[in-house]
Amino acid sequence: MSNGHTSAPVEYKHFKTVVLDGGILLAGFDYFGKPVNVLNVESMSEWQEIVRYAEQSAIIKAVVLVSVKEGNFCAGADLEQMHDAQRQRSFQEMEQLVITAHTLFDKMERSPKPFVAAVEGACLGGGLELALACHMRIASSHPKTCLALPEVKLGILPGFGGTQRLPRLIGLPAALDMITTGKTVFPRQGLRMGLVEGMVTSIPSTVRTLEKIQNETLVQAAIAQARVLCSAPVRRPTLRASLRFLSGPGIRTLVCRYARHQVIKRVRHFYPAPLCAIDAVGRGMGLSILEGSLTVEKPYLLELMASPTSSHLVGLFLAGEKVKRNSAGAQATSARVGVLGAGLMGSQIAGQLTEKGYEVVLRDVSSDILAKAIGRIHKAQTTQVRKRIILPSDLRYRMMRVTPTTHIKDVGLASLVIEAVSEKLDVKRAVLAEFEAESHPDAIFATNTSSYTLADIAARAIHPERCVGLHFFNPVAKMQLVEVVHAPFTSDRALAQACSLAKRLGKFPLVVNDGPGFLVNRILSRYLVEAVIMVAEGISFQRIDTVAKNFGMAVDSGHPMGPLELLDLIGLPVALHVLTSLAVLGSRIEPRDALLRNFLPEKSPPLRFWKAEKENPEALNAVASYRRANPSEVGPISDDILHQRLFLPMVDEAVRCLHDKIVEHPWQVDFALTYGTGFPAFRGGLLTWARQTMTQGQVARELESLASKYGKRFEPCPGLSQGGW
Ligand code: NAD
Repeated sequence: MSNGHTSAPVEYKHFKTVVLDGGILLAGFDYFGKPVNVLNVESMSEWQEIVRYAEQSAIIKAVVLVSVKEGNFCAGADLEQMHDAQRQRSFQEMEQLVITAHTLFDKMERSPKPFVAAVEGACLGGGLELALACHMRIASSHPKTCLALPEVKLGILPGFGGTQRLPRLIGLPAALDMITTGKTVFPRQGLRMGLVEGMVTSIPSTVRTLEKIQNETLVQAAIAQARVLCSAPVRRPTLRASLRFLSGPGIRTLVCRYARHQVIKRVRHFYPAPLCAIDAVGRGMGLSILEGSLTVEKPYLLELMASPTSSHLVGLFLAGEKVKRNSAGAQATSARVGVLGAGLMGSQIAGQLTEKGYEVVLRDVSSDILAKAIGRIHKAQTTQVRKRIILPSDLRYRMMRVTPTTHIKDVGLASLVIEAVSEKLDVKRAVLAEFEAESHPDAIFATNTSSYTLADIAARAIHPERCVGLHFFNPVAKMQLVEVVHAPFTSDRALAQACSLAKRLGKFPLVVNDGPGFLVNRILSRYLVEAVIMVAEGISFQRIDTVAKNFGMAVDSGHPMGPLELLDLIGLPVALHVLTSLAVLGSRIEPRDALLRNFLPEKSPPLRFWKAEKENPEALNAVASYRRANPSEVGPISDDILHQRLFLPMVDEAVRCLHDKIVEHPWQVDFALTYGTGFPAFRGGLLTWARQTMTQGQVARELESLASKYGKRFEPCPGLSQGGW
């Protein structure tokens, strides 16, 4: 007991509690043994006890829920527990947890004693549903504060009453948008849409004890609100009239139909969860919250949780956590990073760095190029101001942190330099030599090359141990994967620093060994060259891309895309360069450069396969002229064969990568392909898909059959029939 404060009578494992003056019970969530707060049977039953205590105690007048962990309010349900249930196909415990959550959240909501959530850090899934069951939510402006119901990304729907409470709080259209896309809402946006009732600027206490954090502005604001709510009968906020109208019985059918249409447009019928969620929201609006939760939301949740799609998505999510954990322990890079090359990639990487608070020295060969790069960074950051994610002042600070320069000397103070200059070996080697001459003796050189090996680039380096690969994907802001390339000469320190930087940029740093195309481009090249060979055979662009899109390629990005559309996105000169350089792997990579060169007229920009969503007539002419010079006839070919020709060589190449120890585990291939190439997540990854849809030896047999009809490039590697992948 101190300063008139008392502890609640019981000690908890995952919560700290203190009773403040005026009967305010301050409960600090602090899940024991995990870096984030999660809701599982253990933590939920403790919260249940706290709610019961608050309800029964005559001293307690209100409850304020905070997180003791910095940067995380609550990450939601315990996904490891859920994945175990999915693997064992035993869902009783999960069902019990869901029922407990529904009755408990209902009790909080109906309680005459107000509950206030002080939200700082990520408030996701079940964490947001817990906050929704409170009578008020106050968010802090901490950079990690964000709110989302991302369950559809795990193949399920919000299952702790989220489909019922959210539409009643923010209206049907906004709730459907959040639930069906899983999108993240930042505090300023949340305040505008009524998801949080208050927002305060708050500096988190560095000492994370309940005693210390209760002095934070956020917690003080939440306590003050709890006191105000105590003095009047507790009422939930009501919806604006226009939003009430859109939730009314007749119109809500139309709103839900529109939402279905949007979902199908985005992800076709590959993902059942968003469609179930729309139904749960629509039907629940006609029932009480508890009734809707138990009779509509819960059955959908259990059905979805048992589906292979959800098991695949949760597996990939946990693989991402493993990737981040594997790269943990690295010390942080200093605040200053150099970027060499201010082209397409360099400017995007510089934008990401300044966004995360780094000072960036951006170097290119001319002021004109630098001016254009600064313009591109400014444009990308301005979008965030427009979307109210950041303030105009944040934009100014971000832009001030980027220093453009044409002098390599200015990069000298950076402890890590990312090289993103033109993809020419002599240019890259010259830049590395300049770096070695001017940089700090410990500084690290991280190349973003996509077609050379790290060994090629560092061949003449004085200190090869300082060289590492940091292979970002385009568009940098969207693509979450970064291959961190490790050669035998790379020092542990260089590797750790590169991983740490990628992680601080919010990426998944997958460590791969050095080799042509590393992991992702090597496997992807088989898919892309096969598509180009099909074009050379006279198969229509439309058919090739449709076969891939029907399989789900890039559906998770919201823009399904076939291989030819992907080649257009990468840009033919870059793609051709990568494909030609990967020919060193053997004759199975046939870049058909003779065809692709017809797409690169001397004095005009490269041709694209697609123009205004139609097959580009100029590209069709280029193909026709190639085919006149190189006639070939393959006869009628079914979509099934096209499908096999596109995807089975990728499986073959993945097994070769495992054999060559580019990575060690099949799950790393699955993860990399999903996050680096748009392989559909609902299939669980390339190798999981192959294992689950084909019998042992079948992939090799089908490749042999393709080899006999279409050429030696399909000949399977011995590892395929040996299994172990
Ligand atoms: P780009 O042509 O757009 O930009 C390269 C920039 O490097 C140009 O602005 C050029 O002026 C500059 N440059 C040339 N010599 C320089 C020097 N000595 N010092 C400083 N700058 C110099 O190329 P990009 O697409 O941004 O690619 C850059 C690197 O990123 C390449 O290694 C490429 O393989 C890799 N990459 C590209 C993609 C992609 O999709 N384009 C994806 C992943 C990786």
